[in-house]
Amino acid sequence: MTLILLTNDDGVNSPGLLALKQAVSAVGEVAVLAPDHNWSAGGHAKTMHKPLRVQEVTLADGSSGLATNGGPSDCVALARLGVLPRTPDLVISGINPGSNVAQDMTYSGTVAAALEGWLSGIPSIALSLTVREDIPPDFRCAARVGALLARQVLEHSPARVLLNVNVPSVPCEEIAGIEITRLGQRIYRDRLVERRDPRGRKYYWIGGDPPDGVGDEGTDVAALAAGRVSVTPLQLDLTCYELIGELRGWNLSIG
Ligand code: MN
Repeated sequence: MTLILLTNDDGVNSPGLLALKQAVSAVGEVAVLAPDHNWSAGGHAKTMHKPLRVQEVTLADGSSGLATNGGPSDCVALARLGVLPRTPDLVISGINPGSNVAQDMTYSGTVAAALEGWLSGIPSIALSLTVREDIPPDFRCAARVGALLARQVLEHSPARVLLNVNVPSVPCEEIAGIEITRLGQRIYRDRLVERRDPRGRKYYWIGGDPPDGVGDEGTDVAALAAGRVSVTPLQLDLTCYELIGELRGWNLSIG
């Protein structure tokens, strides 16, 4: 039977993970292995200098899962390298409360877990839900989207597939379809907040308003703004091909 590994960057007790588990259980056998605390914006960390612990935990629906002190990508590595009885056929990371689009790829622990799966040759999906400040997140529609895409990935089983999926925060019946997109542009509004601790020493928060985005057509940012689910196929090649030729023209003789 198909084995689907579910993980996230928000911690094993995140309601987004539970909603995903309940929806994806209809697609195959599900195993949960997730961090024991919140790693959001932790990126693609690999734990190398401390032992990784794995313990069985009871999820809010009474089912069991595994939690680790490692990060999201550690979860996938642990699962693949022997903590699970066999290699998962699919990794799904999420459901993250908060979209992961554009440059968020470099910060997102949600995406990092899926990337770790993909690097290991396992089809992988990162799944995030846009959240609004005025209402609590409702993961039900994103969970349905996760199950739908899980079925499609398993049915088509493309050689290498890494999907970054974002669901707008509207009821399922109001969603204007699923759009295949490319990564867009984020506009971050980071601001340095300087405070003093009780001993008078300075400390900092990198704060600011939630990020915005440039709504160019065909991008993940634009699809979400239009009320559509965004599905972006990802790959890892960060090479800047435009600069290769120019750099070869530089004087690069050493000493
Ligand atoms: Mn998160």
